[in-house]
Amino acid sequence: MAYDITLIPGDGIGPEVISCTVEIIEAAGVPINWQQVESGAKAVESVGTPLPDHAMDSIKKNKIALKGPLTTPIGGGFRSVNVRLRKELGLFANIRPIKSFEGVKALHKDMDLIIVRENTEDLYIGKERMIDENKAESIKIITREASEKICRYAFQMAKDLNRKKVTLVHKANIMKLTDGLFLESGRKVARDYPEIEFEEMIVDAMSMKLVQFPQDYDIIVAPNLYGDILSDLAAGLIGGLGLAPSANMGEDIAIFEPVHGSAPDIANKNIANPISAILSGVMMLKHIGELEAATRIERAVSATLKVEGNLTKDLGGCQGTKEFAEKVIERIT
Ligand code: NAD
Repeated sequence: MAYDITLIPGDGIGPEVISCTVEIIEAAGVPINWQQVESGAKAVESVGTPLPDHAMDSIKKNKIALKGPLTTPIGGGFRSVNVRLRKELGLFANIRPIKSFEGVKALHKDMDLIIVRENTEDLYIGKERMIDENKAESIKIITREASEKICRYAFQMAKDLNRKKVTLVHKANIMKLTDGLFLESGRKVARDYPEIEFEEMIVDAMSMKLVQFPQDYDIIVAPNLYGDILSDLAAGLIGGLGLAPSANMGEDIAIFEPVHGSAPDIANKNIANPISAILSGVMMLKHIGELEAATRIERAVSATLKVEGNLTKDLGGCQGTKEFAEKVIERIT
């Protein structure tokens, strides 16, 4: 029986990297009925809205989506579709694994950490206003419910994956109420997992330590904004955004997408690195229980990267997006 999965190719480099991912999943033999829908800037052009009802309905029906990045206008324009999807579908946890690859020249080797980012609140709620023409205000919301939920998710993940430590990131020395509540929630949940080491870290110190000693970290749990920034930073340490996959997890709906954006500077040139999208597909396969196919794809990506001359432009090579994907397909055994 084939799986019904919603497919959102996205904007910019999205269609290029998502089509590679679909081909690779097909080559691994997983039967999927892809239900393709448009969202983002492309949907604004074609149907006049960035998040058409049929896209939302498809995700709600299928419960699983593979999604490319969506362009969000900067400074004005429509509200981020990503933020709306996460909020409206209750996708409370954003899971971002960061793992080093042999064959990729990077600032650090042997990194293997997972960033668990709260996905529904913090400064992302979009409650902003001009107080007067020279003063703007943005409201940061942190709730006990969402904080405990994300911290429990991080600890349970540590337990399930046999990880040793959870590091909670905050700025409760300055934001004593909001980040204070996040920290208090983490401390409470930590008491239910005595076998897992719990560490607290102020976000500025975390940024420095992550750059200097990233191998010291295992699972990092953070409110929305710090989690977003730290995951791009961590991706930079292993070789760039082209290598970082993610999953947006809700109670019964999950959307898998690369960490990177639509990268308009390199769109339609066949030079984008498809690995972030491919590995997001791998996370999706693990989620639906296709573990064997997921492992075969993961191995094929690693084996491809080990061969000199196979790297894409962002990693210092000259391999095209499609050509890289073909090399992965050749190695799926
Ligand atoms: P970006 O992630 O698109 O690009 C940042 C830099 O990384 C660029 O130089 C880009 O060329 C490079 N890069 C990104 N992905 C790459 C890949 N796969 N291979 C090679 N190089 C890659 O970030 P940005 O430029 O700040 O944002 C562009 C648009 O994407 C904005 O509209 C933003 O809102 C949106 N965005 C969407 C998502 C999402 O849909 N989940 C996430 C982040 C940004």
